[in-house]
Amino acid sequence: MHAIEVEGVTAGYPQVRALEDVSFAIDDGDLLGIIGPNGAGKSTLFDILLGLNTDYEGTVRFFGSDIRGSRDHLRRTGYVPQDPGFESNFPATVRDVVSMGLRGKDRGRVDEMLKRLWIHELGLRRIGELSVGQQQRVMMAKALVGEPRILVLDEPAAGADVQSSELFYSILRGLNGDGITIVWSSHDLDAVSRLSNRVACLNRTLFFHGEADSFFSDESLVRQYSEATMQAHMREHADA
Ligand code: ADP
Ligand code: MG
Repeated sequence: MHAIEVEGVTAGYPQVRALEDVSFAIDDGDLLGIIGPNGAGKSTLFDILLGLNTDYEGTVRFFGSDIRGSRDHLRRTGYVPQDPGFESNFPATVRDVVSMGLRGKDRGRVDEMLKRLWIHELGLRRIGELSVGQQQRVMMAKALVGEPRILVLDEPAAGADVQSSELFYSILRGLNGDGITIVWSSHDLDAVSRLSNRVACLNRTLFFHGEADSFFSDESLVRQYSEATMQAHMREHADA
């Protein structure tokens, strides 16, 4: 049985079709990197996986059951958004936010996760005072105290410096080593090639999905991807 199965998913917004006939599947324990330029549909796909967007054609299954049928899978799915977006005066500390992820009463897990993510010294700080990268680590700790089977991360470490992204990546590797299935999106091709065993290349349609090694060893695929990214980048700047 697949951990996640996405079958013929098409979705969009009134003015744009963001995803077109996207299909792929991953196994329990996989670490899937989703790469694609800005506007490729990565966050739209994540919204669907997380049950935040139910307006799509096609089918998504988690461990064999259609996620339209029940929201149970969400209790075992952790999510780290692209920008957690806490206002600077948001009235909660780091510790408060992480505790919200607890399902049982095991408060010891909060300390354990604060340490694991290197934010134990920030426990009493207000979440809104932290950088986006630090807020993402808080969201990751919150997700992990709920003991997820699947962790979904939307461009973690995108704005972080090299040191904190390396820290983030080593944490991801450790969690995957503990058996958590991970789906993450990133612009960092090098990090995706080092961390992920599977890769999905998205640009509205899926133009590659498979073993990371077969993607990164295929120069013409990598070149196609880089050209598509460059074009998207130039379009964005032409619009601005
Ligand atoms: P990515 O995360 O890969 O940058 P998104 O999924 O955010 O891509 O966006 C895919 C496309 O859908 C883009 O063209 C984007 O402008 C559009 N889009 C995303 N969110 C919305 C929204 N809430 N309303 C309208 N269009 C949107
Ligand atoms: Mg996005």
